[in-house]
Amino acid sequence: MTADPATPDAMPPGSTLGVLGTGQLGRMLALAAARLGYRVHVYGPEADSPAAQVSDAATVAGWDDLDALDRFAASVDAVTLEFENVPVAAVERLAARVPVRPGARVLAVAQDRLAEKRTAQDAGVPVAPFAEVNDSADLARAVAGIGVPAVLKTRREGYDGKGQRIIRDPARAADAFAELGSKPAILETFVPFVAEVSVIAARGTDGTLLTWPVVENRHRDHILDLTVAPAAQPTSVTEAATAAARTLAEGLDLVGLLAVEFFVTVDGGILFNEMAPRPHNSGHWTMEACRVSQFEQQARAALGLPLGSTAPHHRAVMRNLIGADSDAWAALLAGPGSLHLYGKAESRAGRKMGHVTRLYSLDAATWPPDGSDLP
Ligand code: AMP
Repeated sequence: MTADPATPDAMPPGSTLGVLGTGQLGRMLALAAARLGYRVHVYGPEADSPAAQVSDAATVAGWDDLDALDRFAASVDAVTLEFENVPVAAVERLAARVPVRPGARVLAVAQDRLAEKRTAQDAGVPVAPFAEVNDSADLARAVAGIGVPAVLKTRREGYDGKGQRIIRDPARAADAFAELGSKPAILETFVPFVAEVSVIAARGTDGTLLTWPVVENRHRDHILDLTVAPAAQPTSVTEAATAAARTLAEGLDLVGLLAVEFFVTVDGGILFNEMAPRPHNSGHWTMEACRVSQFEQQARAALGLPLGSTAPHHRAVMRNLIGADSDAWAALLAGPGSLHLYGKAESRAGRKMGHVTRLYSLDAATWPPDGSDLP
């Protein structure tokens, strides 16, 4: 299709969106982009991936394969990502040839827990006390300064509780650091939170900034189990979380999505935990319950299109299907929720295989629904 004179940045339908990363987030992003008439070319090291199964083209190559990156750049009109640990060097290589949204700067911050916490702190967003730990001397100083209990986290590549140790006894701190491979880390206060909430902000090439409602996340074995949307939290909590996400997205000059997670403290405050410049598991509910989902919005931002309304027309509860949970697919198909399966051949323990979202009326009398009424 031809370009629209009213929105000169916008890449017309028929253009190709490049996606770095090939997991379920890329799959749902590709499906959303396809619905708007775009082609999708995914890039990542894994063959027969969830995203490749539903895309026009897939490059199976490493992040350091410069020839493959150059060919990929030549075959797409814009690039976005569904995996925040893409090496910054690969993103910079692509960005010299084609727009990459979000760009390398946002990625560099989101890949490093220390940079992330400092960015939040510098932006005036409350964070739990933390300290940088590079060696055993730093560790001893950090434990003395922060006290116990505390959480030691590797700066890079931790997710779903991986790369973390809770330290309750200062005498065990050195062992915990060794168990994490003595890698650069941060030590932070253990927060006795009453809830975990998250919010996703979307920012377009024209600077438009929108957010979806704040949601509450419940974990099982460190993996997201349920998202309750919207969060049943006081307005003071949801307003503070939304304002913080907006501040961070603006400050990073983001184009794309920024998912930000917070702890809600006993006194009703919020503390920043982490952020990711991509679609987020806690935003899957937007597919059924909002006019524009997180995935469509990311495609819009990356392609320079105007953003669409984030307003929900329903409340929702999303439940993840982890490992063998997805064996119940036939019963779930017959149930009241919308089933999503990610096309993964093997259901290993702890692996996200799919999710199910159940909608509820916006004026439901009780919120959240009780246990008997969940998806
Ligand atoms: P993260 O990878 O930082 O999101 O951590 C995974 C989960 O570990 C979080 O969702 C929390 O449930 C828990 N957690 C992480 N950091 C802390 C902390 N400082 N205090 C208490 N729980 C934490």
